[in-house]
Amino acid sequence: MKKVFVTGGCGFIGCHMVERLLADNNKVVVLDDLSTGSVDNLKDHPNLEVIIGSVLDNELVVKASQGCDLVIHMASYVGMKLVYSKPEQSYNVSKIGTENVLKATGNTPILLFSTSAVYGLSATEEVSESNVISLERARTYDGPVRSYSAGKWELEQLGHKAMDEGRKVMIIRPFNVIGDRQSAAYGMVVPNFIKNCKTGNPITIYDDGEQSRSFSCVKKFTTTLSTLIQSEDVWSKPNNIINIGSNHILTINKLARIIKSKMDSSSPIEYLPYDTVFPNKKDVRHRFPDTRLLTKLMGDVDWPTIEEIIDELLVEATITV
Ligand code: UDP
Repeated sequence: MKKVFVTGGCGFIGCHMVERLLADNNKVVVLDDLSTGSVDNLKDHPNLEVIIGSVLDNELVVKASQGCDLVIHMASYVGMKLVYSKPEQSYNVSKIGTENVLKATGNTPILLFSTSAVYGLSATEEVSESNVISLERARTYDGPVRSYSAGKWELEQLGHKAMDEGRKVMIIRPFNVIGDRQSAAYGMVVPNFIKNCKTGNPITIYDDGEQSRSFSCVKKFTTTLSTLIQSEDVWSKPNNIINIGSNHILTINKLARIIKSKMDSSSPIEYLPYDTVFPNKKDVRHRFPDTRLLTKLMGDVDWPTIEEIIDELLVEATITV
């Protein structure tokens, strides 16, 4: 049995990851400041301890992580709505938070959550780990103010430095992970559309809706991660960055039609220019992952389709609206 220290474990991906780790017979210590997560996302478990606090609190990070065999660092601001309203905080949680977590946990193997947003706005189609990710590229999202993507770029640099110093580090770039317990409060498209259908409000599609994404089922995402962290081969890879995302790609128009039809909703579809929702910001037109590296590491991942994910969400799960 391993003791795993998970930052951000009360958040949407975090709580699914914690469930996976407990099911894999690990002990888990979660540190979360509940800025976007909730303790209600986690069920009591004899092998689970939840500590409320921030990764910016150095002393607490040291105390909470004591004796751990593995660190999973995913605490961060999420969702464009939150990120664009609190850019500096978003940057600091990623940069300073990662510095603290790396320092507090010595030479313990660490999995760092980066983001597909580091590919920047210039991500036109399939993006690969072999693409050069400069700060300028990551910051095309940020505009003049450093924010989420700059913070995650810093996280990656800190990860590389730790790798160079001989530490086992894995950096992952998730692509639009969706599933139950994802909140509609932070602007992500799937919980937004489900909320709109539930409330009868218009389904708001930004721009022409022909932009595309690949949406990755959170349960498949966490089982994929579980496989990766149990592989000594993966930990020993140099320059260890891995795209994790589905190979099913669809436009936001199609997503809206699927959700509306599956929910039998009478909500009208409304188109809004992106700039009116997020002034002075631009949307990524198309972004989906090159997953050849992931396939090489663990074979093909059988990602559920959007229809399968939505069906499961509507039958058994809750999206907080
Ligand atoms: N989007 C939309 N309506 C919404 C929320 C998002 O049309 O209510 C679009 C958004 O412009 C983007 C896509 O859906 O093209 C995915 O947005 P999300 O914020 O979920 O993820 P990200 O932008 O990080 O890919």
